[in-house]
Amino acid sequence: MNQLAAPITQDVLTLPRKLPEGGKVNLVGLTRSGLRDALIAAGTPERQAKMRVGQIWQWIYHWGVRDFAQMTNLAKEYRALLERNFEISVPEIVTRQVSMDGTRKYLLRIAGGHEVEAVYIPEETRGTLCISSQVGCTLTCSFCHTGTQKLVRNLTAGEIVGQVMVARDDLGEWPKPGAPKEDGRLVSNVVLMGMGEPLYNFDNVCDAMQVVMDGEGISLSRRRITLSTSGVVPEIAKTAEEIGCLLAVSFHATTDEVRNRLVPVNKKWNIETLIGALREYPRLSNSERITFEYVMLKDVNDSDDDARRLVKLIRGIPAKINLIPFNEWPGAPYERSDWERIEAFADIIYKAGYASPIRTPRGEDIMAACGQLKSATERARKSRAAIAAEAGL
Ligand code: SAH
Ligand code: SF4
Repeated sequence: MNQLAAPITQDVLTLPRKLPEGGKVNLVGLTRSGLRDALIAAGTPERQAKMRVGQIWQWIYHWGVRDFAQMTNLAKEYRALLERNFEISVPEIVTRQVSMDGTRKYLLRIAGGHEVEAVYIPEETRGTLCISSQVGCTLTCSFCHTGTQKLVRNLTAGEIVGQVMVARDDLGEWPKPGAPKEDGRLVSNVVLMGMGEPLYNFDNVCDAMQVVMDGEGISLSRRRITLSTSGVVPEIAKTAEEIGCLLAVSFHATTDEVRNRLVPVNKKWNIETLIGALREYPRLSNSERITFEYVMLKDVNDSDDDARRLVKLIRGIPAKINLIPFNEWPGAPYERSDWERIEAFADIIYKAGYASPIRTPRGEDIMAACGQLKSATERARKSRAAIAAEAGL
């Protein structure tokens, strides 16, 4: 009804960030060239810079060292210079909750006292870390808990990489000098599916992923990273070219009328425009399939007709459709589709030739499932009425 009046984005409230203690520059999250510039600015002779970058990089991202004093292949005076100018800092764990199914949810404190969440999901053959790209989200998808959070700021590249480092700390995953290399990784995959819209923080996300993918450090292949977007079309080709990771898109509806309500950014870039950008992605990124995420909302987007329209819309795009049973949160204006409905929907898609896995909700008991993230201290929630109005209900 009042859909057109509903805002696509909410107000961004940017609080001044506290400078790190003593004004030291954090090395975490700088790309190799950024690190080089920082070292030179602090007095490293240019001809040594490349070597120093390599050494420091290995200490931070291969060994997980946080203290310059442990960088034993650097001269004492040089370590002192680093100490005076820089720090190696990652977000601080405020709470860590472990679900009955082994899922771990971290509430992390970042500069300025803000908080974000990251979730580790162990599975038999892999371990996926779901990380955040913003505090809150400027978009206001009506089924998403994060979208009701008012306070928003972009995370820095260091805060994004830092989430991976914190999880590795907690899981004890840094290699130990002299110990045999362990096979299998605990954090084997990273998904940018936590709080925030990664493509509204493109530069920081891109730098962070360069660090995470670098072969001499954390070394995750670009095919083990999945970025999920609600459909910020102008940044999709850039993601292919500059990051090259796998792409997931929060599709969720098969008509513009319904998608406008669920994913309001659709009013800016509608289904046709989005599909056009997605068609180009596999070629530009030299990657395989695109994941279409589809949240199952009872009587909203879950009919057989929706399933058939979906298949028709994505024809020709190498794709997999991930069906996500809606995860409830307090005040949510939707209900999860019945299980039989989800299965019938999956069946139509499967018969049309697409994989249609139903995502098992993980960590529900600790509110760690998709769309439930929202940091505890920032619960300045919109009223139930405001949420319903934006959903066009
Ligand atoms: N902003 C990005 C990434 C974060 S959301 C995006 O929207 O893609 C990660 C996924 O969880 C998205 O597919 C989102 O639509 C889904 N999601 C959000 N709220 C949900 C909920 N309550 N139940 C199930 N999935 C939800
Ligand atoms: Fe933001 Fe994604 Fe939630 Fe939409 S679904 S409000 S884009 S985090």
